[in-house]
Amino acid sequence: MIDHDVLVIGGGLSGLRAALEAKFSGADVAIISKVYPIRSHSGAAQGGINASLGSDDSWKAHALDTVKGSDYLADQDTVEILCREAPERVIEMENWGTNFSRKDDGTIAQRPFGGAGFPRTCYAGDRTGHNLLHTLYEQVLKNKIKVYSEWLVTKLLVENGKCAGSVALNTANSEMDAFRAKATILATGGYGRIYQRSTNAIINRGSGIALAYMAGVPLQDMEFVQFHPTTLWDTNILITEGARGEGGYLYNKDHERFMANYAADAMELAPRDIVARAIQTEIDERRGFPGGYVQLDITHLGKEKINKRLPGIRQISIDFAGIDPVQEPIPVQPGQHYSMGGVSSNKDGETPLPGLYAVGECACISVHGANRLGGNSLLDTVVFGKRAGGAAAEYVKTVENQADEILIDALKNEQQRIEEMMGEGGENFAELRDELRAIMQEYVGVFRNREKLEHAVEAIRELKERGKELRVKNNSSVFNFELMNAIELKGMLELGHVIALGALVREESRGAHYRTDFPERDDENWLKHTLACFKPKGPELDYREVTIDRFQPERRAY
Ligand SMILES: Cc1cc2nc3c(=O)[nH]c(=O)nc-3n(C[C@H](O)[C@H](O)[C@H](O)COP(=O)(O)OP(=O)(O)OC[C@H]3O[C@@H](n4cnc5c(N)ncnc54)[C@H](O)[C@@H]3O)c2cc1C
Repeated sequence: MIDHDVLVIGGGLSGLRAALEAKFSGADVAIISKVYPIRSHSGAAQGGINASLGSDDSWKAHALDTVKGSDYLADQDTVEILCREAPERVIEMENWGTNFSRKDDGTIAQRPFGGAGFPRTCYAGDRTGHNLLHTLYEQVLKNKIKVYSEWLVTKLLVENGKCAGSVALNTANSEMDAFRAKATILATGGYGRIYQRSTNAIINRGSGIALAYMAGVPLQDMEFVQFHPTTLWDTNILITEGARGEGGYLYNKDHERFMANYAADAMELAPRDIVARAIQTEIDERRGFPGGYVQLDITHLGKEKINKRLPGIRQISIDFAGIDPVQEPIPVQPGQHYSMGGVSSNKDGETPLPGLYAVGECACISVHGANRLGGNSLLDTVVFGKRAGGAAAEYVKTVENQADEILIDALKNEQQRIEEMMGEGGENFAELRDELRAIMQEYVGVFRNREKLEHAVEAIRELKERGKELRVKNNSSVFNFELMNAIELKGMLELGHVIALGALVREESRGAHYRTDFPERDDENWLKHTLACFKPKGPELDYREVTIDRFQPERRAY
């Protein structure tokens, strides 16, 4: 058995920042991650991180943009924390060594992003996440924080109403062990790969969100799934919003800048939900190009600016589409990108289960509401990562460790469960996974309606039944990817069920959740958060009020 005061599950930005703060606060802390930390998906973030740095901007303006972008579903007390603490966190990252792009006077450069009334997004070329992740990992090494790399956590242990630790599989040799921790921080990222078309890495399977759900912790606002408007056609690699921030135009096949018909003032810099729907409408109404895409044109920015501000985008377009954006427009289509919902957590990352915290994309601290603004997620990881690490370090001073036997029993039970998944015959993970992804893409996508969602809920129920017969044929103990996939698929099916059911029941359109049969926002009935609790028969839904203090809901117009 392995023992730490605080165990952080996840080595992305939120996990690293949480671990650092727990360490600074005096706790014995370790990080466990299924991939080496700097391979976490945070490293793929391109566009930037928001903070009101200049004297002509303010945290209040940032908060208003965030709340409006969220379609008034974000909790305004947590948004205030996000925006107030942003400048300090960004400057801290700069002081730790992040290589931000600069203005001529040497201060951090900022670019415009969708839904923001001010150029507020700090960036490091178009490799911001990579820079931030390496900066934090250096700090983790410097502070000698223990990292268990290539371990997959398969279960959270709940004892006496508290989270007492977890069980994990060492993917290098398939051995399992119990991790005792007085506090556990989930920082496991998003679930993008339950969709067929996603910008997310294949490791983003939402297993941490599923772990919390299966441990009895409610999931919040899961029906709100962000579709990024501009992913590279076919491969769905992200083409950052920074490309539009730098002045890119969107064209349909008739060479119309069609955003004029959807957001005449903001044009290409309208929030993501609006631009994604606009592009999908152009494609659905046959004004897209054959194969289903529109064009993102940055040729007019010129080679020098593209090389300086968007070098990664240029290289991705050349490598994956055979197109040099210096000369030709980039073919783009919407793709799943971000999970606004997640493990229900408060301003310090505390979940309703004592001893369990959640931060980053796996959490719903409710700063993004129904639609996240670009640049606010990287910010979310460092602001709330810090807070959760500090809170967990304080919490561990107040609790005793659970007895050895409890963890040893949990380990044995988990070993047996996984042993039972091994064998010939039965269902194959890849078939079930592909069917799930196709269902989510087709029926729980950018545009939803009752018929589609009822079909999705029923089809996912059937997949879950078939999932009981899932068998892993590969017996290898060394990096058994079939086993890892099978373990995580069970969680993916649960998340798909929660998302589809939440979307079916929410009869309105708000942010990224758009119902063609209920196209208006309905504040009277639906200005509330959805909570989904695990029950063996399927998710049980409940609702919670939205915290509104500073900004009263208004109609969103851009
Ligand atoms: C292509 C792309 C570009 C983006 N660009 C931007 C941007 O410019 N600005 C912005 O604000 N946001 C951006 N985002 C969103 C942002 O990058 C992410 O939301 C954020 O980085 C998530 O960080 P995280 O720490 O929550 O999770 P991640 O970085 O995804 O890390 C998750 C960690 O959890 C570990 N893990 C998961 N499950 C388990 C398990 N069961 N056991 C053990 N370990 C586990 C993984 O190994 C990994 O270390 C972008 C997202 C994508 C996909």
